[in-house]
Amino acid sequence: MTAILDTLRDQVRGDVITPDDPAYDDARSVHNAMHDRRPAEVVRCVDAADVRATVLAAQDAGLELAVRGGGHSVPGFGTVDDGIVIDLSPMRYVHVDPERRRARVGGGATWGDLDHATHAFGLATTGGIISTTGVGGLTLGGGIGHLARGFGLSCDNLVSADVVTADGRMLTASADEHDDLFWGLRGGGGNLGVVVSFEFALHPVGEIIGGPIFYEVEDAPAVLDFYRRYISGAPEEMGAFFAWQIAPPLPFIPEERHGDTFCALVTCLAGRHDEADELFKPLFDVAPVVAQHVGRMPYPALNSAFDALVPPGLQHYWKADFVRELTDEGIAAHVEHGPRVPHMSSTMHLYPINGAVHRVAPDETAFAYRDMQFAAVIAGMWPDPADNEQNIGWVRDYWSAIHPHSGAEGAYVNCLSGDDQNRIRGSYGGNYERLAAVKATYDPDNVFHLNQNVAPAR
Ligand SMILES: Cc1cc2nc3c(=O)[nH]c(=O)nc-3n(C[C@H](O)[C@H](O)[C@H](O)COP(=O)(O)OP(=O)(O)OC[C@H]3O[C@@H](n4cnc5c(N)ncnc54)[C@H](O)[C@@H]3O)c2cc1C
Repeated sequence: MTAILDTLRDQVRGDVITPDDPAYDDARSVHNAMHDRRPAEVVRCVDAADVRATVLAAQDAGLELAVRGGGHSVPGFGTVDDGIVIDLSPMRYVHVDPERRRARVGGGATWGDLDHATHAFGLATTGGIISTTGVGGLTLGGGIGHLARGFGLSCDNLVSADVVTADGRMLTASADEHDDLFWGLRGGGGNLGVVVSFEFALHPVGEIIGGPIFYEVEDAPAVLDFYRRYISGAPEEMGAFFAWQIAPPLPFIPEERHGDTFCALVTCLAGRHDEADELFKPLFDVAPVVAQHVGRMPYPALNSAFDALVPPGLQHYWKADFVRELTDEGIAAHVEHGPRVPHMSSTMHLYPINGAVHRVAPDETAFAYRDMQFAAVIAGMWPDPADNEQNIGWVRDYWSAIHPHSGAEGAYVNCLSGDDQNRIRGSYGGNYERLAAVKATYDPDNVFHLNQNVAPAR
């Protein structure tokens, strides 16, 4: 084993970091500080050749292999005890072709990297709402963000991907080449190989009008009742999600209310700016507004506005559900548990996934749930491990209360926790068997199993 790892050092151009290296503690850390793991080696791959060599060496040495893009996996899939980590963070390039409205993106890029590069040309594609999240993991699991109603999920905007597979081949997956692999990459997570390069379709999005609107917790039933109707019929340029939020010390929130709990709508109008007054009026009228920060801003400004709430090093425990319809009973469950949110970084987000997301057939991509109104995620995030029991308890109790009213067995795989493995099959619905068959074609020995794992069909 040692000889194989020594040889790997000679084969790759990126840094190979072992426990005796001063950079080791930095190299082994992931966003969720609960996962304090000690890999045998972290290989900072600079190109596909490095990835290929590492994938093969890990198998030769009989070691587990973790693949890390942005490192945001809540179950900590981007690291592993005693195994090898492929760290794609040196591969963060973004090449934009403004004429064809395409971006070619390295497997370790973050949404901040992509937004920065595309915004210069007045273009964007659906990404996450935090700029430090990886393009890789987020896209491969689906990808829900401000622009999803208008342009679909991140994976719906994937045009092609270059993938290093378990046997060391490099395949291009698209609608025309290895279309089964391309189908599986759009929702199937990291199950099928290491994507070294993504190609995305871009859309004309420069400035947006948006930001958060805060209401009193007592008004949450009215806000939720209004919101479910509003977002089912609003123009698709309007992205707006519901959230609970303990007020951070920001200038637009009255100082005496800092630390109080509110409900909020986080808005993003990515077009139809001449109709903004009309489209925002009902949001300002539904209940008294305590604070708001809605304005015209560059899209990347909104997409990085909440980064400070979720710095690296917090403890994370999340649970999730797709929501077919937000029922009165569902609202009552949210209103009972949401206001108990224990920490400023914790929240529940209710993301709308209608509009363009519904125009893709359920069997067109591995992401199966194309008739849901919302994706709910209860995201517990707090700094002190001594508070784990209280915070994990809040997430579990909240989820147990809403789940009976969700009308769906599954949840968005990128927001499942590590103890949700029994929900993976349900989260792929009718696509599970096909995904297992694609897995058997491209990764029959389940080399890539540190993910929400789909076992290869036998
Ligand atoms: C603070 C925060 C905010 C979030 N916001 C959103 C949001 O707005 N919308 C949303 O949809 N989700 C969101 N998520 C969830 C997010 O989609 C998942 O955590 C996702 O897995 C993160 O991807 P990553 O590359 O950063 O993570 P990593 O931990 O690096 O990887 C996650 C998984 O993807 C695999 N993977 C990553 N890159 C590659 C690659 N290039 N090739 C093959 N496999 C790869 C890994 O092996 C692992 O299994 C958020 C998560 C956090 C922690």
